[in-house]
Amino acid sequence: MAKTLELRPLGNTGLKLSSVGFGASPLGNVFGPVSDHDAVASVRHAFLLGINFFDTSPYYGGTLSEKVLGKALKALGVPRNEYIVATKCGRYADGFDFSAERVTRSIDESLERLQLDYVDILQCHDIEFGSLDQIVNETIPALQKLKESGKIRFIGITGLPLGVFTYVLDRVPPGTVDVILSYCHYGINDSTLEDLLPYLKSKGVGVISASPLAMGLLTESGPPEWHPASPELKAACQAAAAFCKEKGKNISKLAMQYSLSNKDISSILVGMNSVKQVEENVAAAKELEIFGKDEKSLSEIEEILKLVKNQTWPSGIQQS
Ligand code: NAD
Repeated sequence: MAKTLELRPLGNTGLKLSSVGFGASPLGNVFGPVSDHDAVASVRHAFLLGINFFDTSPYYGGTLSEKVLGKALKALGVPRNEYIVATKCGRYADGFDFSAERVTRSIDESLERLQLDYVDILQCHDIEFGSLDQIVNETIPALQKLKESGKIRFIGITGLPLGVFTYVLDRVPPGTVDVILSYCHYGINDSTLEDLLPYLKSKGVGVISASPLAMGLLTESGPPEWHPASPELKAACQAAAAFCKEKGKNISKLAMQYSLSNKDISSILVGMNSVKQVEENVAAAKELEIFGKDEKSLSEIEEILKLVKNQTWPSGIQQS
């Protein structure tokens, strides 16, 4: 086994993120209840196994994820520069607000919950739900002021429809947006992010791809109740998971390896809520480094998912 988890550069930021990133939405009980003990143990184990990147949001569990992550990071007792923390602004349990006033207040609230002096990355959360022109003209300039104040080091944007990234990046001065976080678009069932990678690279923008397990679609236990996929997509993924199980393979491991294999993506953010999941996902990455992808199993799964390939779901508001 490879000794340490691979570190990959994040665009022009100078940051190096572990190839597997820790998605902390499950710590907000988004995928079912998680005890404080399991949450703290998962974060500790992740750090010990080489994961240095942790992503959260005030939205996850109505601020619970940030609080639990903060507690778990503090319990590590290691210097602040040994881990990279990303959180978000603009999306909250009670709705969206990308105004300069709200996001400026938001970072102070997040820092308090996280028990930190600064976050490495502050991302505008799910911008397709706001006015993209407000993001360009008001929100990002407010985040630039936060950068100058030292409360955040880098600026990011997140969302589901890929078009929102080009819309914003085409309209802000070069170097303003450091990072994009895309989700559910670089996995076995949907790999549409791939087409955008050359554009992002040309702009020096770092790429984080989240939800390699398609928010639970590519797991043996299946997605949570709230999952927005069509019944057809859910059924196809369930069939693929059952096929893998029958062959003695684990669909989540294959899915992780598929996503991790593209090195133009800096970190694959996977949501984890147990030491077991941390171990499995890190092992999947290390095994990939040595043996490469299981091409045969992947092509069999791709065949099962052929009819739903790149099928997504609507997200956000109509932009004028
Ligand atoms: P995911 O695809 O990572 O799936 C998470 C689910 O898979 C959870 O139920 C988790 O317990 C389970 N899981 C993890 N490892 C497993 C394993 N080895 N075997 C079986 N099941 C396993 O989806 P996600 O959590 O939504 O995405 C990852 C992270 O990315 C989030 O936690 C969040 O930090 C970030 N994210 C951000 C956005 C956004 O900004 N809009 C959207 C989605 C995700």
